[in-house]
Amino acid sequence: MNITTVDIAVIGLGAVGAATLYQLSKHGKKILGVDQFAPPHELGSTHGETRISRLAVGEGFDFIPLVQRSHEIWQEIQQATDEKLFYQIGGILMDSGNQAWAKHGSEGFFERTVNFARRADIPYEVFDNKELKKRFREFNLEDTGQVYFEPSAGYVVPELAVASQLSLATKQGAAIKTHTKVLGLKPISGGGVIIETNQGVIEAGQVSISVGAWVKDFVPAFYRSHFKICRQVLHWLPIKPGYFKNTTCPVYMWGFGPNAEDFIYGFPSLDGVSVKMASESFIASHHADTIQRSVSEEEKENFLSKKLTGKFNGIDPSILRSKTCLYTVTPDSNFVVDRLPDFPEVLVSSACSGHGFKHSAGLGEAIANNLLGIDSMLSIKAFHWPSIDF
Ligand SMILES: Cc1cc2nc3c(=O)[nH]c(=O)nc-3n(C[C@H](O)[C@H](O)[C@H](O)COP(=O)(O)OP(=O)(O)OC[C@H]3O[C@@H](n4cnc5c(N)ncnc54)[C@H](O)[C@@H]3O)c2cc1C
Repeated sequence: MNITTVDIAVIGLGAVGAATLYQLSKHGKKILGVDQFAPPHELGSTHGETRISRLAVGEGFDFIPLVQRSHEIWQEIQQATDEKLFYQIGGILMDSGNQAWAKHGSEGFFERTVNFARRADIPYEVFDNKELKKRFREFNLEDTGQVYFEPSAGYVVPELAVASQLSLATKQGAAIKTHTKVLGLKPISGGGVIIETNQGVIEAGQVSISVGAWVKDFVPAFYRSHFKICRQVLHWLPIKPGYFKNTTCPVYMWGFGPNAEDFIYGFPSLDGVSVKMASESFIASHHADTIQRSVSEEEKENFLSKKLTGKFNGIDPSILRSKTCLYTVTPDSNFVVDRLPDFPEVLVSSACSGHGFKHSAGLGEAIANNLLGIDSMLSIKAFHWPSIDF
């Protein structure tokens, strides 16, 4: 039997895996990346043209060093590849001001964002609806509303981020196996891991698992209920000429009610004729392999009537196309990035809860450093397994 042997294998090459492979490939080790598909692809969590990145992340102050480092790494990748993947066009967070609302598990998300920006010296402004209208005519915020504006926010092109990091990793010596599904992991006595795939066996000293919405396939039964796989729907809508220009319109997030779904976010137009917008959904699905990938007419109508009505100028309320994507959500909307307690050669990363992309480049570096035993300012310590009462 032909067995591939490597120092470290990275399983799953989406946002987190591509970043981990790229960072590992800087250190002259024998590194292999494996994915069941050929990333970037549209079946996981890292597609749909754009991802918001913002520095004052209301989800938690401890995340800020990760996103700050990610912004540096996006620049590094741009220089190395001559491709633009990070558009720092500014971002706004709007609060309708009617009722308190939470985002990604954080109550008082607006106030936390402002507070974190102040504490971390991140440039920002807070203004009212009058000022919003002067600056960005696309939004019909209520007069009770308030706006947080962060000039260093913007969007990253996720498919390009994945492709660029995989390409740089291979240039730096990493190997990649696509269309290779990992079926199981077994410990080797004396250390190391046997990786069984549908294309043969791999032996690795250590394994980094970054399989996104497939995480439950790789964790012990008692951790599985910690992860909820939630189907998300993205929509593209036609715009009127002159609105949502990529040069003048920021990325935006808007909380307008007390439920987690009372939320809409979006981007300026990439093509001059349409914009991408979405809300969020936290309904649990059974498994990533059995998700309903098509979007029904009823879902489109609900989006238009329940999320869009009255909120925007310059949009034609109809849907040109829609796509589905997957969140992997934990009860506290945090990440898990930790070694398996009974199998320490295996490090599992679940960095989603709907807000993982912006941190992925920095997280890839933190994971690589942990696997290589390098001391690092960026730590994965905060993202440990939940305590389970047996
Ligand atoms: C609609 C949507 C909008 C979002 N918006 C934002 C945003 O604006 N800002 C932000 O910061 N975050 C955002 N997020 C979250 C962010 O995109 C995710 O946190 C991030 O993409 C997760 O990356 P990942 O590497 O964990 O998963 P993925 O990119 O899905 O990668 C997992 C990979 O593992 C592979 N895999 C799975 N099982 C196996 C197996 N058995 N063998 C081999 N390979 C396997 C898969 O094929 C896949 O390629 C959004 C997410 C969604 C869905």
